[in-house]
Amino acid sequence: MNDTTEIINCPACGKEMTKIFINEHGINLDVCLDGCGGIFFDNRELKKFDENSENIDELKQVVNNKTFEKTDESLTRVCPVCGNNMVKNSVSVKGDIIIDECYNCGAKFFDHGELTKMRSEYPTEQDRRQAFLSETYNEVGAKIDQLELKNNMNRAKRSKFLKMLDRIIFQ
Ligand SMILES: [Zn+2]
Ligand SMILES: [Zn+2]
Repeated sequence: MNDTTEIINCPACGKEMTKIFINEHGINLDVCLDGCGGIFFDNRELKKFDENSENIDELKQVVNNKTFEKTDESLTRVCPVCGNNMVKNSVSVKGDIIIDECYNCGAKFFDHGELTKMRSEYPTEQDRRQAFLSETYNEVGAKIDQLELKNNMNRAKRSKFLKMLDRIIFQ
């Protein structure tokens, strides 16, 4: 899906979104300037903005010093490009940054503040992936440790039992 040129309505608050032209990448981003401050990314657009070193000054400038409407982030949102229901996904290991994704066209919607939060939590995509991996590793690792502990305990019990047998047989 290419950069949309039509005006779209915000999937969170329904207001018309404003096209913000990002010079550096030559693309338009849809920002909900008159409503909730959300940012809508077409398929692949996000890649250019998700790392902390990537420049979002132009984006920051337009949302700076503005107050935005609060929205109910738990509601299911409908993709303004293709009309499919969007799916809530965590982009943080702690699960505290939930964005809306359209699996049909690949669009992503960030509520106001979520993009900067994600970027500051993991400066690069590599860091984010690493964090997910180590979290998974920790969970699996803990389970393995538990199993091992159980095994050791069984072994300890077994050796006690063997010693007891020893005593009975060789006394
Ligand atoms: Zn909005
Ligand atoms: Zn869509």
